[in-house]
Amino acid sequence: MKEAKVFLSSAMTELHNERAAVHKALTDRDFKVIRFEDFGARPESAQTAYLEGVQEAEFYVGIFWNQHSMATEEEYGEAERLGKCCFIYVKDFDVNRESKLQAFIDELRQKHTCPTFVTVVDLAERVPRDIQAWVLHHYVQGYCVRCRAERVMKDAKEVTMKNGRLAAKGTCPKCGTGMFKFLPKKH
Ligand SMILES: [Zn+2]
Repeated sequence: MKEAKVFLSSAMTELHNERAAVHKALTDRDFKVIRFEDFGARPESAQTAYLEGVQEAEFYVGIFWNQHSMATEEEYGEAERLGKCCFIYVKDFDVNRESKLQAFIDELRQKHTCPTFVTVVDLAERVPRDIQAWVLHHYVQGYCVRCRAERVMKDAKEVTMKNGRLAAKGTCPKCGTGMFKFLPKKH
């Protein structure tokens, strides 16, 4: 599996801990995270920089709580326009939400399943798990011994081997032969 890139999008100040925890959880599972904190000084504007960040990523993760942020809304708009796979999480604790953000979340809920979370730990466990499940379902490449070719597995499922290693099991989309592939270690 090639290294998948995830763009992390949220209001910066109020979700600082969540951003840090999700960054660590994804990095630990071999995703590359693109986030504003890591952008150095650049000749182009901040807006251009974060939109380029979205363009580069395969996945968009949006985390929302109380504050509306124009930048976040634009990042999402770019992800949606480019057909990126979007994962949206809404913090359901101490809610005192700006009406503009509530309207935006209502709009997001029309298009995506947007689970709520309470604790940072809960969120940090969930994000990599959700993306990994999606990747498995849509993306896992394996080698078909019958076709003698690399194929994206059909109906891939995560299985744990006797020795504790994780693997994906599925079938070849062309000939139906069973396919198997080891996956990166789980944390
Ligand atoms: Zn085959």
